[in-house]
Amino acid sequence: MESTRALATEAVHAGRDDLARQGLHAPPIDLSTTYPSYDSRGEAARIDAFAATGAEPEGPPVYGRLGNPTVARFETALARLEGTEAAVAFASGMAALSAVLLVRASLGLRHVVAVRPLYGCSDHLLTAGLLGSEVTWTDPAGIADALRPDTGLVMVESPANPTLAEIDLRAAAHACGSVPLLADNTFATPVLQRPAGLGARLVLHSATKYLGGHGDVMAGVVACDEEFAGRLRQIRFATGGILHPLAGYLLLRGLATLPVRVKAASANAAELARRLTDDPRVTRVHYPRIGGAMVAFEVAGDPHDVIAAVRLVTPAVSLGSVDTLIQHPASISHRIVDAQDRRGAGVSDRLLRLSVGLEDIEDLWADLDQALGAGVRPSRGAGPHRFAAPPRGATSHAAAAPATATAPAGDPPAPTASRR
Ligand code: PLP
Repeated sequence: MESTRALATEAVHAGRDDLARQGLHAPPIDLSTTYPSYDSRGEAARIDAFAATGAEPEGPPVYGRLGNPTVARFETALARLEGTEAAVAFASGMAALSAVLLVRASLGLRHVVAVRPLYGCSDHLLTAGLLGSEVTWTDPAGIADALRPDTGLVMVESPANPTLAEIDLRAAAHACGSVPLLADNTFATPVLQRPAGLGARLVLHSATKYLGGHGDVMAGVVACDEEFAGRLRQIRFATGGILHPLAGYLLLRGLATLPVRVKAASANAAELARRLTDDPRVTRVHYPRIGGAMVAFEVAGDPHDVIAAVRLVTPAVSLGSVDTLIQHPASISHRIVDAQDRRGAGVSDRLLRLSVGLEDIEDLWADLDQALGAGVRPSRGAGPHRFAAPPRGATSHAAAAPATATAPAGDPPAPTASRR
């Protein structure tokens, strides 16, 4: 639903508009699993209505698997931010994608057209056909030709995990014709991009990332029109991938600061991308045209050494938290993708993915700088102490890399950094 309020205002107020009239400031957390009623006939009618359309029942939800008022506040808010009629929340991003595939498969539309790269587990779910779907991988220009009568979905990520490759979503939506386009908007968030306004029928988030924003809640959500939302609620009811109300509360709280967090982290990321581009130990930097808080870069040396050497930055998979995280996609987030497919999608074995947080830029750079120094230190035969970095808690400024470091034998020379 289009709102007349600015995004920053919606982020703080959407899903909470009724609170003041109830004499409340913080949203209540409703932990009920069931909702008592003395009117069984009325309950029967409400269940029939839900079975017919998946519309949220009027009044309380009957049973926690049909819906939850606290989760509904988050769904309302996210729909407002994405500019859609509705949103349906799930236990994780993968549960959300699974529900979308099941909705389409239930209509006999099992074929999916998808553009690589996608997040590794999304790729795996489609490639392995775990839910009975069949995938055709294509590039954005090939979407229209890949469509078949039984195509139920076209799936893209932009910027994509982990290369940050971008897709013209408007052109992709056009190429889909009447087939729904699912845009995974996890990396951009509605702060930077609203795919529904560009023609995507489904906007998916791993809400585990920026929407939650603090690395302490797992969730997924699909923003879409009310008709598709009804189907998703029916699948959620029947398969059980619901979001816990406490997670719904944390997500609603996360949304309030989403614009501020994304803008501040993006400013840090843009500056780190600039410094990495100028660094001879880095062979390639990926930073999206639309900006954002993700940076990916390929190193001349051993990426595992860089991961082992960070001290302020957290070496962990996932992204979108207030603190900066680094991981090696070929080892973790995209490990499950066949190595040839992974490399074919542009995910180099030398690629590192950085989720930039809200720390001071100089502290971040000092840590990356010393870690990159470790990445180009001679590693063959250097013994177990070659990552001689300060213990955790030591100041990150104490471990600056030597100004001139040599690449280990066998590593390619560092070409000029390129930015795309
Ligand atoms: N989509 C993207 C772009 C992701 O990065 C991830 C997880 O990393 C997912 C979907 C899956 O989300 P979740 O881990 O919440 O299931």
